[in-house]
Amino acid sequence: MSEIKQLVILGATGSVGMSTLAVVALHPERFQLFALTANTQADKAADLCRQYQPQFFVMADEVGGARLTDLVTDLPTQVLTGKAALEEVARASEVDMVMAAIVGAAGLAPTLSAVNAGKVVLLANKESLVMAGKLFMDAVSAHGGQLLPIDSEQNAMFQSLPGFKIGQPLQELGVSRIWLTASGGPFLNRTAESLAQVTPDQACAHPNWVMGRKISVDSATMMNKGLEVIETAWFFGVPGEQVEVVIHPKSIVHSLVEYIDGSILCQMGSADMRIPIAHALAWPERIRSGAPGLDMRSLVDLQFQPVPEGAFPCLELAYQVLEAGGLAPTHLNAANEIAVAAFLDGRIGFLQIAELVDRVLQGLPNGQALDLDLVISADQAARELATQLVASI
Ligand code: NAD
Ligand code: MG
Repeated sequence: MSEIKQLVILGATGSVGMSTLAVVALHPERFQLFALTANTQADKAADLCRQYQPQFFVMADEVGGARLTDLVTDLPTQVLTGKAALEEVARASEVDMVMAAIVGAAGLAPTLSAVNAGKVVLLANKESLVMAGKLFMDAVSAHGGQLLPIDSEQNAMFQSLPGFKIGQPLQELGVSRIWLTASGGPFLNRTAESLAQVTPDQACAHPNWVMGRKISVDSATMMNKGLEVIETAWFFGVPGEQVEVVIHPKSIVHSLVEYIDGSILCQMGSADMRIPIAHALAWPERIRSGAPGLDMRSLVDLQFQPVPEGAFPCLELAYQVLEAGGLAPTHLNAANEIAVAAFLDGRIGFLQIAELVDRVLQGLPNGQALDLDLVISADQAARELATQLVASI
């Protein structure tokens, strides 16, 4: 077995962060926690410091940082505060692996910091790849680190592509198409009219997965699948037309790779994020995840079906921005974050999420994503326009 790995978990208090801690706790001989990070939740952060005793805990929020410092004076963990500290721990020379599990565009800078330092990066934060796909993947290639997918679908694709190396054209492996599975979320088969009044709690009640609130709303609109189409395109270097979304309500097959000879490989498992997390933490070895296995005798039928036409405008918008390229995916991601936050706060209705994203895309000129400054300005411009539109609703 390989030597002990020093790990940073960006977004440790979140759903993916906590699942990562659960897997790590099963393997104290393999992993040590160099740093955990959070945004504002000082009490939860203090509990994690007490339970896991990481060397550092970074609070992005200053007020949260001051509070955490007071809460852990009796512990060996050193508290750092502010966004710059997220980037510092992600690139620290002691660190081997970084779990990128911050939600949203806030994850981009610290994740890139780890990539630029050549770390093994376990990528849950799909938004950073959507926002800055080319720049992100160029940085991965330039700095020679390893990128491993945590999103269950991309992890399934990776497992179904034996021998795949980042940057390698998939034709070399004989791939003809990627089937990206989608549960369809809680509102599959509902009419648009019946969705106008749904509440945030209804939208967050995913039939198969327990996740953070932003990604849960994204699953209900299927923007999550749209972001994953873009994530797949960048991660595996495939054009959008080779990524086919298929509805699979049971979330057992986590995606499939089709080859030119007609073979289809897939990865299956229970809907439990500890499985892809354990896969990436140990890769290329295997370790226990703590997740329950599947009893194949109980899988009566798996069910696959096409995406109902016209029912999920966010998914269509995602294909369009992928095709358009440049800064359009950055605009889409930023507008979606503002729209989802507004929906969760009760300021806009569920159906207005897609409308708002569409209006932001229409309202901003596309441009080339030549450098990070341009991406960050495009992200800001889309947030500002989306915020104005929310205020006018
Ligand atoms: P979550 O809301 O449960 O947790 C988010 C984490 O990010 C928290 O630790 C929070 O403190 C931190 N954070 C939020 N805003 C921040 C900011 N501005 N600065 C610094 N830290 C901040 O989210 P989640 O469901 O765990 O999702 C995390 C990421 O993983 C997302 O990109 C999501 O799309 C992706 N993902 C999640 C799942 C899942 O099952 N939850 C599955 C696949 C992919
Ligand atoms: Mg996913």
